[in-house]
Amino acid sequence: MSHGHNDPFDLDAMIKLRRDLHAHPELGFEEERTSQIVAAELEAAGIEVHRGMGKTGVVGTLRVGDGSRSIALRADMDALAMPELGDVPYKSGTANTMHACGHDGHTVMLLAAARHLARTRAFFGTVHFIFQPAEEGRGGAKAMLDDGFLDRFPIDTVYGLHNMPGLATDEMAVVVGPQLASSDSWEVTFHGVGTHGAKPHLGRDAMTAAAHFLTAIHTIVARIVDPLQPAVVSACAITGGDFRALNVIPDDVRIGGTARAYTPQVRDQLEAEIGTLAQGIATTFGIRASYEFKRRIPPVVNAAGPTSVALKAAEAATGRPVVTDFPPSTAGDDFAEFGNRVPGCYVWLGNGPAVVGALHHNSRYDFNDAAIETGARFWTAVVEEELR
Ligand SMILES: [Zn+2]
Ligand SMILES: [Zn+2]
Repeated sequence: MSHGHNDPFDLDAMIKLRRDLHAHPELGFEEERTSQIVAAELEAAGIEVHRGMGKTGVVGTLRVGDGSRSIALRADMDALAMPELGDVPYKSGTANTMHACGHDGHTVMLLAAARHLARTRAFFGTVHFIFQPAEEGRGGAKAMLDDGFLDRFPIDTVYGLHNMPGLATDEMAVVVGPQLASSDSWEVTFHGVGTHGAKPHLGRDAMTAAAHFLTAIHTIVARIVDPLQPAVVSACAITGGDFRALNVIPDDVRIGGTARAYTPQVRDQLEAEIGTLAQGIATTFGIRASYEFKRRIPPVVNAAGPTSVALKAAEAATGRPVVTDFPPSTAGDDFAEFGNRVPGCYVWLGNGPAVVGALHHNSRYDFNDAAIETGARFWTAVVEEELR
């Protein structure tokens, strides 16, 4: 990729800004300072700015010509509630708050591309730059959609990017199909009839039903889901009875856990099967079960069209072969809320060597500023490729 001048992305300023954001991290839906800076930078570049989307989210809109196509590029802005233990000079100045996932870098890379595109305008159509709040489990993408994002900004495709330790800072991975798992939670309560521990025949034992359920639940992945489809069902919490009353069989036993899948079909299957199993076991023991499955984040599944655009853009941005067989991650990203509604592609950009003890969500993690140029080039190339 060639540019008219040597530093089209103002890298010195962008690195300074990235470190400033790193020093001033903000938790999900509290990104007041960050979104002020983002909005001011977009405005200074002559980009139309929409504040307060999903509380602290910002959308920048750039139109060139009368092209009818419209795309969105999404960055996340939030930090995590954890202490920073590394020794960088721009270390977090806020107690128990840290950019441990690199969203400071994501914000700056998209901003660098937006400023550049506002100057060069080498495309026809509309780009919406999404600066999303609260990616880390607080529902920022959903909040933007609930605020009418898709009505206000109709889009044909959407793109997301995350840094990835283990790939070089001029290396990217773009893979069609499932990228990140769905992340849902479930709860089952067995409602029996409590009784004296010495007289089980006078009640209906929820405890024994719960025990059967806990062993049987692993047959869902082993015996029902297609063996070629990854899935996880884990029980992670259980309550019932009281250790100060070991002669009492309780009325109720409550069990909760997580369910993960990489396709909407398997996700539906897990939701249905956990409930079926709970009801069946309750019936066997002559009791009742209540069941709740809470859909939190859908899987991120890259669509073919946008993935081929992202692949070309990644080649142009890095000048080297793009990794196309990068394995899916068991983590989740609420980019899926956008990608579930319009065709999307979520890509990985290298963060340099993977250092054990400094990976994502570790107190010594840091975004690698050497990746800013690659990321900004990638975003620019996506726009120029999609909106020719
Ligand atoms: Zn994270
Ligand atoms: Zn992240």
